[in-house]
Amino acid sequence: MNKKVRVRFAPSPTGGLHLGGVRTVLYNYLFAKQNGGDFIVRIEDTDQTRFVPGAEEYIFNCLAWCGLQPDESPLHGGEYGPYRQSERKPLYRKYAEQLVNEGFAYYAFDTPAELEEMRNSLKTAENPSPQYDATTRMGMKNSLSMPAEEVTAKLANGDNHVVRIKMPSNEKISFTDLIHGEVEFDSSVVDDKVLLKADGMPTYHLAVVVDDYLMKITHAFRGEEWLSSAPVHVLLWKYLFGIEQMPQWAHLPLILGPSGKLSKRDGAKYGFPVFAMNWTDPKTNELVEGFKERGFLPEAFINMLAFLGWNDGSGQELFSIEELVSKFSIGRVHKAGAKFDFEKAKWYNHEWIKKLPASHIAENIKELFAAKNIAVTSDEYFIKVLDLVKDRCTLLTDFYEQSVYFFQSPQQLDTAAVLPKWNAEKSAFFESYCELLHNISSWELSFIENEFKQLAAAKNIKPGELQLPMRIMLVGGKFGPAVFEIASMIGKEETISRIKKALTIFNQ
Ligand code: GLU
Repeated sequence: MNKKVRVRFAPSPTGGLHLGGVRTVLYNYLFAKQNGGDFIVRIEDTDQTRFVPGAEEYIFNCLAWCGLQPDESPLHGGEYGPYRQSERKPLYRKYAEQLVNEGFAYYAFDTPAELEEMRNSLKTAENPSPQYDATTRMGMKNSLSMPAEEVTAKLANGDNHVVRIKMPSNEKISFTDLIHGEVEFDSSVVDDKVLLKADGMPTYHLAVVVDDYLMKITHAFRGEEWLSSAPVHVLLWKYLFGIEQMPQWAHLPLILGPSGKLSKRDGAKYGFPVFAMNWTDPKTNELVEGFKERGFLPEAFINMLAFLGWNDGSGQELFSIEELVSKFSIGRVHKAGAKFDFEKAKWYNHEWIKKLPASHIAENIKELFAAKNIAVTSDEYFIKVLDLVKDRCTLLTDFYEQSVYFFQSPQQLDTAAVLPKWNAEKSAFFESYCELLHNISSWELSFIENEFKQLAAAKNIKPGELQLPMRIMLVGGKFGPAVFEIASMIGKEETISRIKKALTIFNQ
């Protein structure tokens, strides 16, 4: 019987989630849902020096915003907890000791100063940063180089020590990656990584293998930056649990910015977000902008991310999460880095704004309006407005400018668009038009428009020459849907009042 698919996203709580992190979540999620499996979030917080308060909460808020909810996590619970590695601390030592007992790892007692000295004294032009490995370990203080009694005494005495993996020399370590295919490493190039630290905390290398085993993970998708650590993990799987138990790995391609790997700096330099949501570093108070606050819809953000490294080959670009779940395939993820293009990201957002019903985005826009002190009194009116303008909005934040004039008269008029061609005849036209509107029998679009056209014909002015001034009067600028539509929406009193107010400005 096939094992139930179980995948995990295993972030270290060191800061906000950038595009690459959310894409890892997404690919894990899609794969899990497609296979009726479980998506687990495990917090890898064993490196206490890199722990950043608020980062874990931020991660879960992001996942909630994206709609990528875990089945198991420290927040959602589950049978395989705890899901924070720091809370699992006591269970790792036995695995480290098993490795030592079986000759795959050893105790090392070197102080930081001794390690530093080794690096300095062995440094050569060919080997500028000597490692703790098969070539150096016998010159260091560890259970391989020291007499057994001394090691026992040191351990009994509680001397500070770590456990290191004993990397074999000249062994080929290989595995099949779901994206990269067969990958092979020479064990000699990998150092004797620390597995258990002096404080009893495991390092990432030990914890990731032990937890993937204990949490019954079947597939592990992670960033390509972890590929070079894979040989250590492969060996640990082999030594501890048997290689056939190892999850299938997929190392996801890098996301590239304008110059190499996409970075926070690129975002700042080119003015685009690289984080999912706003993140303020508690140490520096530096704020990194997020896609959410920039005005992205989660649907668009997810769709765009899915395409950073994958496509289904059909040419279709707009995919809902449900479609992604059915169409995604890890085998179609590219090996090469995926280039992030902010213009394309905006294109996705624009398409999704057009595609979704106005009611779906109404809450977002209401918040935006509330922040600008614009009260929405009728939901029906509000939704109608959003429907009228949404095709013109690329970012959710565009809705403010594109629709504020439906709620208040324009604060400023683009007089430069009108005055060069303004004259007494036009002014007289609008005076008369206001009177006609005042007495109009029905405030319906066709009536408002007919009166306008008939009056223009009677006064022998081309309606086209009058529509722009009318638009500026009602909207303030040269944009928006059909001008009579706007008049019909804002009502008779408001239309007449805006025309009259504008006339005093144009006639100054
Ligand atoms: N804790 C690692 C990180 O922060 C996770 C790597 C993995 O998924 O194995 O990226």
